Formats: sequence, structure tokens, C-alpha cells
Amino acid sequence: MKNLLVARKNKAIGILKKMEKRNFIGVYVDTKEEALKQLMEWAPKGSSITMGGSMSLSQMGVTQEFLNEHYDFIDRNLGNTFEEKRELIAKGMLADTFLTSVNALTQEGELVNIDGVGNRVALMAYGPSQVVVVAGMNKVEKTLEAAIDRARNVAAPANTVRLNLKTPCSSMGICFDCHSDDCICASTVVTRHSKFPGRIKVILVGEDLGY
Ligand code: SF4
Repeated sequence: MKNLLVARKNKAIGILKKMEKRNFIGVYVDTKEEALKQLMEWAPKGSSITMGGSMSLSQMGVTQEFLNEHYDFIDRNLGNTFEEKRELIAKGMLADTFLTSVNALTQEGELVNIDGVGNRVALMAYGPSQVVVVAGMNKVEKTLEAAIDRARNVAAPANTVRLNLKTPCSSMGICFDCHSDDCICASTVVTRHSKFPGRIKVILVGEDLGY
């Protein structure tokens, strides 16, 4: 484990350097506990926050209960109807922080997300004053093509199983490029640059997080 963390740290240092030219701010930490500490430095208690559903964040202990306790949490899940959820997502656009993970990232520092409804990628691209991304180093791929492949053939199948969706990948484990009602792959967004320096902040974590 120690050797793995050393190798991941060295790799992360190279990625963080490349993120600088993309106007991202990034740090590396070994553990999810350190990641939580960094998150709370960037997003001070009491500030407004909204979140995209993420296994990585829940593994860190960033749950709805945690956010309600420490933040002014704008929770789209409180909406009972599509319209109510849409209103909460719109309110979240003006939050201080959008908290999320990614489906994959590249060694060049590009962030890859695939989204079904589109709220996660919309909030990431435009909205909250800052975006804090937490990503385990297990999500790093060498190329953009490999990162998108990871999003479609690793992250999406696991997410459809978690969400109990009826898609070909939830039963077969790989992407069948479906157009089913439950498809969670409507939009593929590659974040390669931030127009506003420092708006996107990335915490790379040596431990495996999410899928
Ligand atoms: S099968 Fe459909 S839902 Fe599953 S990864 Fe492919 S496009 Fe996405």
C-alpha cells in the first residue's frame, strides 16, 4: 500500500502541474480523511453548497446529513416533482460551492463526466462560485479516449446497478451504447480549462474512491 501511495503521489504531482495551465487549483492527499479536511478549508462551514450524487463523496462521509449539519445545503432531492427538483437545481446554480467527483480524469488533467439529466455537468460548467472536485487516483487514465471509455464501461455500469436502472450495462457490465429510458449517458462533458482562474479546485486522493 505504501509503494502504491508513493507511485500515485508522484503521478499526481505531474497531473497537478498540468492542471495549473488549465486554471485549476489542485492538491494531492493520501487519504479520504485528509480530503475531507481540504474540502472544509475550501468550503467553509456555514457557506452555501450543492452536490452531485457521488460514491466518492459518500465514502468520505460527505452525506446529506453531513452537509445539512455543516452547510447551507441546497438539496435537489428535497424536490418531489421534476419541476421542484429543477427549481432547487436552479437555486444551486447560485451556491458558493458545487461539490462533485468525476467519472474519470486524464494524466493531462482533463476532467470527464457523463450525465443523464445534465444537472451535474451544467453546475460544473457554469454556476456556483467554485467547484470542488474529489477524485481517487484510481480514476486516472492515460488518454482522453481511455477516460471516456472508463466513464462508459466502468463508472456507468456500476452506477446503473447502484441506482437499480434497467440498462444493458447494468446486466452485462459494459456499455452497449443504449438509448433506453433509463440511460444515464445523455451528455459527455470534458472540462479542459476554466475561464475563471481557481474556480475549479481538485483534490486528488491516493486511496481508491468511487468507481
Ligand atoms: S449501456 Fe447505456 S446507460 Fe449503460 S453505459 Fe452504455 S449508454 Fe450508458
